Amino acid sequence: MIYIDKRHAQVPAILLTDGATETQNLRDAYDDDNTYFDNKRSYEVFKSSIYGNSEVKNSLIGIQNHKCCFCESRVTHISDGDVEHFRPKAAWLHDTDGLKKPGYFFLAYEWSNLLLSCQACNQRAKGNQFPILNSNIRTTITSTYDCSLENAIFINPSNEDPEISISFFEEIPKGNNYRGRKTIEYLELDRFSLNDARREKLKDLFALKDAIDVLQNEADRERAEDILRRRISEIVSENLQYVSMVKCNFQEYLD
Ligand SMILES: [Zn+2]
Repeated sequence: MIYIDKRHAQVPAILLTDGATETQNLRDAYDDDNTYFDNKRSYEVFKSSIYGNSEVKNSLIGIQNHKCCFCESRVTHISDGDVEHFRPKAAWLHDTDGLKKPGYFFLAYEWSNLLLSCQACNQRAKGNQFPILNSNIRTTITSTYDCSLENAIFINPSNEDPEISISFFEEIPKGNNYRGRKTIEYLELDRFSLNDARREKLKDLFALKDAIDVLQNEADRERAEDILRRRISEIVSENLQYVSMVKCNFQEYLD
């Protein structure tokens, strides 16, 4: 996970117009009736046409270089990506009591709460989970609409430098503190498919590094070539993404 700098980005206009109006409507409805959200489905109260608008999504895609805010996988070459609510809008998952409503509905159209995420991180791993350290405060949030005193456990990559809390040993993520460890655990940032994809990237870099190391000695030029050829041959023969394209371009390395 890396820091996402949204400080200089313009807030998408649709959030300031339609989003602000909808936020006020939701707050009025909840202030009138604290059970307003209890029996409603997410799609009945939230408008994805606003928070998931192309203006919002394209802005996040640009800021995040097409990558998921949590796992850094490139999202947009295989799907549109999800506009993810860091604080879940519809409900939050209690450790033992299941889903609790309302969620952070007043942040549904709030720019600072929106990030671009892959489906694996957003829908399969994070879902409605949003653990906080001082959980008692959750009862006051919907009367003050102020989250500033809430100590979220998840690392928010647009609010803090994630590299302080999460580092890597080779392809495996390691939590440097409690929040880092919990973020990895809840978001499954050490899931097999991610570790596997990161390992592939590392293999190429290690091969290049090994080649550079042996090239320090002119006499080892053949060894360097051997390291690089071996890696190309592995890439061509392995069961990787886009293998058909690779084979068309590197036919001479096929066995
Ligand atoms: Zn992801």
